[in-house]
Amino acid sequence: MSIPFWRNRDRYYRMLGSKCQKCGKEFFPSVLVCRSCHSTDVKDFEMPQSGKLLSYTLQKESISGFEDQEPMVFGLVELDNGVRVVAQIVDTPYEALKMGTKVRTVFRKVRTDGESGQIYYGYKFAPVRVTSH
Ligand SMILES: [Zn+2]
Repeated sequence: MSIPFWRNRDRYYRMLGSKCQKCGKEFFPSVLVCRSCHSTDVKDFEMPQSGKLLSYTLQKESISGFEDQEPMVFGLVELDNGVRVVAQIVDTPYEALKMGTKVRTVFRKVRTDGESGQIYYGYKFAPVRVTSH
């Protein structure tokens, strides 16, 4: 196994971003140069696994290769460190979502390569279950 393979694998199974060692800003996806202070002293940094939903949308139209997941919900999530990411929202009906819904990172099948049958995994978000009774 080559080192680059494991580095990439890491990025799929943990949300690895970057943290600037100079100004402390955190980024996802990872950056080579800090977008805030332009320092090149940035290190891999794992993103928090929870955040809240800022907005969301229901996608009914097919994206080739994703037909089995229709309809798909996509959301803009603000992680607990303030970093914003767009990702698929799973494990909940669209109607149950609200702005501000607490979500957590889950790692799920993203798609299956039609040619090779290889399955790709990536991060998605699911609502945090709140016990209200
Ligand atoms: Zn910086």
